[in-house]
Amino acid sequence: MKLLDVKNLKTYFETKNGLVKAVDDVSFSLDYGKAVGIAGESGCGKTTTALSITKLLPENAKIFGGEIFLEQEDLLKLDDVSLRKKRWKDISIIFQGAMNALNPVMRIGEQIAEVIVLHEGLTFNQGLKRAEELFSLVEIKSDRIRSYPHEFSGGMKQRAMIAMALACNPKIIIGDEPTTALDVMVQAQILDLIDKLRKEFKMGFILITHDLSILGETCDDLIIMYAGKIVEKGSIEDIFNNAAHPYTMKLLKSFPDIHGEKVISPAIPGFPPNLLSLPTGCKFHPRCEHAVERCRIEEPELRRISDNHFVSCHFGGIYHE
Ligand code: SF4
Repeated sequence: MKLLDVKNLKTYFETKNGLVKAVDDVSFSLDYGKAVGIAGESGCGKTTTALSITKLLPENAKIFGGEIFLEQEDLLKLDDVSLRKKRWKDISIIFQGAMNALNPVMRIGEQIAEVIVLHEGLTFNQGLKRAEELFSLVEIKSDRIRSYPHEFSGGMKQRAMIAMALACNPKIIIGDEPTTALDVMVQAQILDLIDKLRKEFKMGFILITHDLSILGETCDDLIIMYAGKIVEKGSIEDIFNNAAHPYTMKLLKSFPDIHGEKVISPAIPGFPPNLLSLPTGCKFHPRCEHAVERCRIEEPELRRISDNHFVSCHFGGIYHE
């Protein structure tokens, strides 16, 4: 049994200009203790995928189809009250700059205790005790639960948010750019910490970021999204060593290689498409140097090219850059 199984998820936004297919037929799964990364340019559907799992979508967004199984339960079939109980307890989410969400006039430990009281039914004092333990886990001195947010550095506040995300021993943590606002040293410490906790508690971790180097360090599997669809997915080795989609190849090339020659990394030509008027055929064809007539007419299927490696391209890696 998978910890999380997302099947054919379709999340669309209803706008005055029409329907925006932000997540279109997305499927992936996550095992206990594993980490999956989701990458792609802004607007590719990464965050909407995460928000769909927790059903924390904006008002004009609607899930038009699909299933999201957490173990054996389809989250999309739950009513709001049941789903609210799952948040924090089964699935926690850490947003970019989540540290700014801390209440500035309340001690941090009390804010964590509140979550524990609400979801675990413990007393407030028991919640504070648990907050102390969580602070030790995220390597902050336990007596700092009495501090206010302004007494913490950015890195400490983000650690406190991770402590809060762990408060109810969730089965899955979703990090949506959880370290983007932090400097690289603190970023590395936070990701190491999540990695350690994930392995220790067999939690699943979904990491959303545009930074492929972080994903390469942290994840077991990787999903590349473009214009609301998965264009490639596979293990980290599949994607980093045998990328098969021209978009993935370009994404990888646009990141500097610290061991390589000192050169300016090439940008991906053009822009992501307007989701209100998508290109026909393959959505990537206007930016793809391998595009042929067929690409402009026929949309490629996501197909398996090896064990766990899938690609949505008519030529699936059989061309040369
Ligand atoms: Fe490029 Fe055609 Fe493959 Fe799309 S289907 S990625 S346009 S080669």
